[in-house]
Amino acid sequence: MGKIYDVIILGAGPAGLAAGLYAGRSRLSTLIVEKGKDGGQIAITDEIENYPGQIVEGESGPSLIARMTEQCEKFGVDRVSDTITSVQLEGDVKKLCSSKAEYEGKTLIIATGAFPRPIGCKGEKEFLGKGVSYCATCDANFFEDFEVYVVGGGDAAVEEAMYLTKFARKVTVIHRRDELRAAKSIQEKAFKNEKLHFMWDTVVEEVTGDGILSEMTVKNVKTGELTKIEADEDDGMFGVFGFIGRVPNTEILEGTALELDKGYIPTDQDMHTNIPGVFAAGDVRVKSLRQVVTAAGDGAIAATQCEKYLNEL
Ligand code: NAP
Repeated sequence: MGKIYDVIILGAGPAGLAAGLYAGRSRLSTLIVEKGKDGGQIAITDEIENYPGQIVEGESGPSLIARMTEQCEKFGVDRVSDTITSVQLEGDVKKLCSSKAEYEGKTLIIATGAFPRPIGCKGEKEFLGKGVSYCATCDANFFEDFEVYVVGGGDAAVEEAMYLTKFARKVTVIHRRDELRAAKSIQEKAFKNEKLHFMWDTVVEEVTGDGILSEMTVKNVKTGELTKIEADEDDGMFGVFGFIGRVPNTEILEGTALELDKGYIPTDQDMHTNIPGVFAAGDVRVKSLRQVVTAAGDGAIAATQCEKYLNEL
């Protein structure tokens, strides 16, 4: 029989890594399972201005995450890179299964985060990586001196649009309303940026091109007017970055006894879900503020509650 961990953590973003740190420091046998790169969405964030103490000039999401990972490893947390395809959440031992292995734990912390919401236009999937992107940090350099469009009007869209102005010749934010949702302080900076332009009351209907994105049809939602945008002849291409919110990573939990609310996991203030021994932390949870600082706080609470649960078993 394989090892039964005290705590299994699904996901190595800030919530999962904070949970790992706290569980490891409590000398609980702990396993973190992550299918991709550590960091979740932070791994693709260029600047983190609002994590307390984060004032090191030029520090990015990946470097902050690298330190969190190192700190976790220091406290003896086991790590595995695997894609979980099914879970068994009820009973005293929780089971996570992939195509190659089965992992067992007395408690489980779900910290699977959320992924970028697709723009929802025709051709989006086909041109992903060929002009369509959801990650400015990853792809901005491909658009050095080209034109770029950013879809969305929240903090992420406006901040990433400003970041893209460091690379692109011109950046146009396409927003479905006539005012931004982004924080006023972010808006103020954006409106001062000469490379940044705005296309209001507009949605993207279709992206197309000959192998690489070079044409887009947008619609004015007030007048219904359709406009075709073509790449500059010398460029032959442009970029479209989508930042219109996120979707929780809970597909594998659908159909289980775990309660979900629009895909997010409801918890109490101590990160308990409706199933004993199963906790949730970070962006995957129903909450009002999805930030690195709140994810890390959730992870710390969840791990502490695992210890309490185990002591009471
Ligand atoms: P968000 O705040 O939910 O904004 C999503 C934006 O996309 C909104 O402007 C929304 O338009 C638009 N949108 C949604 N669905 C759309 C669709 N189908 N078609 C076109 N546009 C659509 O998401 P976010 O910007 O990713 O931010 C998520 C959370 O992270 C927020 O709490 C945010 O404050 C936080 N965040 C903070 C920072 C920071 O503080 N530095 C940076 C990034 C993110 P409407 O406005 O019309 O609804």
